[in-house]
Parts: sequence; C-alpha cells; structure tokens
Amino acid sequence: MKCLICKQGETQPGLTTVSLQRDERTLIIKGVPAEICDNCGEYYLSQEIAKRLYRQAEESLQHGAEVEIGRFTTSGVAA
Ligand SMILES: [Zn+2]
Repeated sequence: MKCLICKQGETQPGLTTVSLQRDERTLIIKGVPAEICDNCGEYYLSQEIAKRLYRQAEESLQHGAEVEIGRFTTSGVAA
C-alpha cells in the first residue's frame, strides 16, 4: 500500500522494532512483522499483530523492569 505519512513510498513486508512507553517504562520489541515504507521507514502493523503485540507488552510490563527488550512471539508470551 502507499505510505500515509510521506505519501510517496510503498510499503513492503518486513520486520521492525517497536518501542512502547507506559509511565516510566520503555518496552522494546524486536522482530515484529509489519509493512514498512521503503521511503521514510514508517511501519504499519496489522490488527492481528498489533493485538498480539499489546498483549505481549502488557505481560512484559508486569515484570517491572524499567527498560525491557524482547522479541516478538506469535504465542503472545515475551521471550
Ligand atoms: Zn513513507
């Protein structure tokens, strides 16, 4: 699809790193499947992936670390 941010690039399937912040905590999740703009690098997550990502983030944030780096898993459990 055409990128909504720069309106010039086309998105391609790939893997991206997503960082989420809540309160004082930062969660970084690598290896998230996404459509990535070949021009500006903006990424778009499918609804299904986003849902899993947020579920994984919730679990990961419960560990209480200030910064946590994980890898995206299809089971929704943080690595
Ligand atoms: Zn773009």
